[in-house]
Amino acid sequence: MTTALTGIGVTRGLVIGRAHIFHSIQPEVLEYNIPQQYVDDEVTRYELALARAKQQLDTIRQHIPASAPTEIAAFIDTHILMLEDSALSKVPIDYMREHQCNAEWALKYQRDALVTVFEEMDDPYLRSRRDDVDHVVNRVQSLLGDSGEQGLVGTEASLAGRVIIAEDVTPAETILFKSQGVAGFVSEHGGINSHAAILARSLGIPAIVGVHHLRRYIYHNEMIALDSERGMVLADCDEALLQHIESRQQIALRQRARLADLRDRSAVTLDGVNIELLANVETEEDIDLMHAAGSDGIGLYRTEMVFMMGNGAPSEEAQYSAYRHIVERANRAPVTIRTLDLGADKQVDGVGRGGAIATNPALGLRAIRLCLKDPSLFYPQLRAILRASVYGKLRLMLPMLTNVEELLQAVQLIEDVKRELRQANIPFDDDIPIGGMIEVPAAALDADAFARHLDFLSIGTNDLIQYTLAVDRLDEDVNHLYKPAHPAVLKLIGMTIKAGLKAGIPVAMCGEMAGDARYIRLLLGMGLRVFSMNPRACLDVRRIVVNSSVSELSALMHSVHRAGTSNEVEELLDRINYDI
Ligand code: PEP
Ligand code: MG
Repeated sequence: MTTALTGIGVTRGLVIGRAHIFHSIQPEVLEYNIPQQYVDDEVTRYELALARAKQQLDTIRQHIPASAPTEIAAFIDTHILMLEDSALSKVPIDYMREHQCNAEWALKYQRDALVTVFEEMDDPYLRSRRDDVDHVVNRVQSLLGDSGEQGLVGTEASLAGRVIIAEDVTPAETILFKSQGVAGFVSEHGGINSHAAILARSLGIPAIVGVHHLRRYIYHNEMIALDSERGMVLADCDEALLQHIESRQQIALRQRARLADLRDRSAVTLDGVNIELLANVETEEDIDLMHAAGSDGIGLYRTEMVFMMGNGAPSEEAQYSAYRHIVERANRAPVTIRTLDLGADKQVDGVGRGGAIATNPALGLRAIRLCLKDPSLFYPQLRAILRASVYGKLRLMLPMLTNVEELLQAVQLIEDVKRELRQANIPFDDDIPIGGMIEVPAAALDADAFARHLDFLSIGTNDLIQYTLAVDRLDEDVNHLYKPAHPAVLKLIGMTIKAGLKAGIPVAMCGEMAGDARYIRLLLGMGLRVFSMNPRACLDVRRIVVNSSVSELSALMHSVHRAGTSNEVEELLDRINYDI
């Protein structure tokens, strides 16, 4: 009988392959005594393991594909820096000398001490740093155990075409998986926004994370199938099921080959409705991909990237050149620059809370709240955006609006900055459209009121889903509850679309849902006309658009609205999407 396990699909893809059980987590470590005369040798053994770990990371860094976002190199750099830090390069050695113990034990002792410190911090960003400690320590431990690159280096041939089954996967391992041609990976831990998941998406590796007790059910070498679109791992598949999956794979392959032909085709539905397809852009690479996919412009430029690249807040000048560069590279296509959305999992040293740890960071001082509290942060950004606005079609977008007062306060600040610029004879686009993100349930429920003061709305489903369903988007333990098709989420999306229609302003969606093939027809039926997505998804979304009829889809929405559960909605989607 077929076994089906579910988790969170992070990259769309359908693969069949033999399972490879991958052991990378916490090798068992025992303590033993080292006679005084051999302690120096033990220290040397430890130093050699550190050096080899660094060598491996250097090699991995060189293998990062050019298409990977720049922050990927930063993950690896962080691990290299951790190896060089005295916390790993000195403290374990002192411990070895003092306690005359083996290197593995000294390293484990130091790892536990470091992890305890991180665990006491109730902050998701710092929690992810705890995972970094584990990844680095495990690498050194496995080198001390002389088991090579955790079963990876030197086994290139054997991993090609395999589906990796792991407790957890690090960003570095994800890069190695890519270079070794694995078919996909599944892990017990990890959330949709974990570092490895972000990488898997950007490298196009089919992956499913957060599959609890995975290794209890999957055996080494057995044939398994991954349907990462549905987050399903299938084992013990019978012949008929395997054939069905293979035929779906063939269809998907043919579709991909035909996608490039769609680049210059307008995104018009079968019944003649024009759809705007925009790109979410974070890196230079994304702009290239956006042009290659023939996107209509940039629907979301996350300015946090400019802040995360340096130390502390960048100057107005640095921001101005970054924004101007993006606008110029867009070649007159519209560019939606979102004002700073720091806070929660996005932190920059020296910016924001002044080091205090919030109990609920996602509900704390983030995005527009932080900017309004600290105009010294917001002012230079507004000036930089306005100054860049003369170089193209720039739109300004405010994140995480919760009440209209915040919006009015932000608009007032924008007016103040405009006045200053006018007085100083600095050119800017006086008609720059101002939009707001609808990503808090309160804003969706009150979208009419927001729409009256704005030129466009953009639905941020990543946060809207998290806040509506009370599911931390970073917490793997509740990832299974994170459901875009939850009827409550759909109601809020529907209310926002209606509010835009009523006010006569465009409504876009820039959360991940807008680039997810599964939800495109649903959103078209609900009345969404502007989709902003990862540029890698753009051609596929265009394919769905040109093969859909809005009038037919709208007629099906009654059943969607009547559905009482996300499962019922998903079943309807299976039917609505039957031919895509
Ligand atoms: C969203 O919340 O949907 C969104 C696009 O913003 P971010 O993912 O940056 O929070
Ligand atoms: Mg958001």
